[in-house]
Amino acid sequence: MQLGTEQFDQVATARDMIMRGYINNAVKLETQLSMKTIRTLRSKLTAEGLAKNPRGRQIRQGQSIIKRSEDREDVTILMLAYRSYGGDNILMSVDINALNLAYDTYVLVKSEINRHPVDFVTINDAYGLAQELRSDDAMFEQCASCDLEFFISIRQECSTKCPFCAGHAHGPTQPDSVVV
Ligand SMILES: [Zn+2]
Repeated sequence: MQLGTEQFDQVATARDMIMRGYINNAVKLETQLSMKTIRTLRSKLTAEGLAKNPRGRQIRQGQSIIKRSEDREDVTILMLAYRSYGGDNILMSVDINALNLAYDTYVLVKSEINRHPVDFVTINDAYGLAQELRSDDAMFEQCASCDLEFFISIRQECSTKCPFCAGHAHGPTQPDSVVV
C-alpha cells in the first residue's frame, strides 16, 4: 500500500486515537479513513497489545454524561483544560491534540483528588462534549457568585448552576435543582 503524506498523517492520527481508546466512529470522523482501514488498524494494534476494545460504540451526548454534580465538576475541569490548550478554535472544530492533552490533565487532576477513581469521564465522552461545544450545544458560563467558569451542555438534565457553589453558603441552597 502506498501512502501519500496526507494519508500517512491520517493513519498516524488514527493509530494514536485507537491507542488512546477512541471508538471507531470518532476515528472515522476525525481522519476520514474508511471503517475497513480503521478496523484493520485496530486489530493490528490489539494483537500487538497496544489497543483495547473500548466499551460502547456510540459517541454519548451531554445528557448521558452529565448526570450528577460530580460529573458537572469533572466535565468543567476537562473542558476548561481543553479550551486552554485549544483556544477559541475549539468552537469551530474539534482539536484532537488539545483534547488529548486536556484529557491527560483531567486524569492527573482527578487522580490527585482521588475521589471517584472508578467514575472517570472517558476519552469518548470528552470527544462527544467537544463536538457539542463545536455545534453550540454546549458552552461555558461564568458564575455570578464565585466568578469561576463552568461547562454546561444544553442537553444535560441535572442542574445547570455552578458546580462549585452548589451546596455551599451562597444564599439559599438548592442542590441540584433543575433550572429551566
Ligand atoms: Zn460558583
